[in-house]
Amino acid sequence: MKAAVLQEFNQPLVLQDVDVPTPDIDEVLIKVEACGVCHSDLAIAEGGWPQLKRLIKKPLIPGHEVVGRIVKTGSGVRHLAVGDRVGVAWLHWSCGVCELCLEGLENLCPKQIITGASVDGGFAEFIKAKASHALKVPEKLSSEEAAPLFCAGITAYRAVKNSGVQPGQRLAVFGIGGLGHLAVQIARTFGARVIAVDIADDKLALARDLGADQTINASTEEVAKIFRGMGGVHAGIVTSSSKAAYAQAFYAVRPAGALMVVGLPVEDLVFPAIMMREIRIRSVATGTRDDQRAVLDLAGSGAIRCLVETCDLTSINETLDKMRRGEISGRIAVKM
Ligand SMILES: [Zn+2]
Ligand SMILES: [Zn+2]
Repeated sequence: MKAAVLQEFNQPLVLQDVDVPTPDIDEVLIKVEACGVCHSDLAIAEGGWPQLKRLIKKPLIPGHEVVGRIVKTGSGVRHLAVGDRVGVAWLHWSCGVCELCLEGLENLCPKQIITGASVDGGFAEFIKAKASHALKVPEKLSSEEAAPLFCAGITAYRAVKNSGVQPGQRLAVFGIGGLGHLAVQIARTFGARVIAVDIADDKLALARDLGADQTINASTEEVAKIFRGMGGVHAGIVTSSSKAAYAQAFYAVRPAGALMVVGLPVEDLVFPAIMMREIRIRSVATGTRDDQRAVLDLAGSGAIRCLVETCDLTSINETLDKMRRGEISGRIAVKM
């Protein structure tokens, strides 16, 4: 099969022919229809962050937002069949028996296997996956629409959920990109009053189209004053990695509110001020299968939709370069 392979860190992926994987007794073989391209794929191609680096195998087929049809099932697989369309997320497998798994925190399982990092991912014509962790995709969604929900979608969903926001409360989303445009819509389904913050007017217009109640251009408006005027937000979700976004979000959150760290975190948050204001700072590590089902249901019912453009497997390196330069709005998926 054709695959885009990471041979060495910091080198372009190599398009090459590799063997089609053979599913084990508890696995399924999937013919890939679409695979989203995520900023984590860039990080992996560059060696990943320290905690991830030791898990990355080489050579590696990256890609962890995979949707396709099952073409073969292992002999132990009962609940999925050939022809089913399923998705494979970052969380390739979790043990199911450790303390964290038993508490419903399978996304934090210390024994977890990671798609497109510790095992081969979806930048290929076929992928094998654990049947237990491959989730059916609603028929209403195209494969390229569904693919980004397996990382961007589930992460945005869990960020809104874990913020604890209640109907009628104020929630601000900082950064209206791939994750942010989904967070805006998901927060609306939770009944929150949504304030979108970005530095680009076209992204703010998109946020309004997607249901944001209010938008703030952080490069031309007085962000701090506007948030002070409304009494702050009960939850702030930062999907941007910029220090400026964190600095603004930190003071936009009202005392006792929640700051959700989603974009790559920056080091110098103001810890004494956290203590003074009893702010809760939380992060999300993608999500659980339960979160994944919830976000697929939202998209399947039309309550949210992922903005996605597509590219070919042969142009994967150009796509990664475009992503490095920040030229992708919404998400992008490789269409097979
Ligand atoms: Zn991802
Ligand atoms: Zn576990």
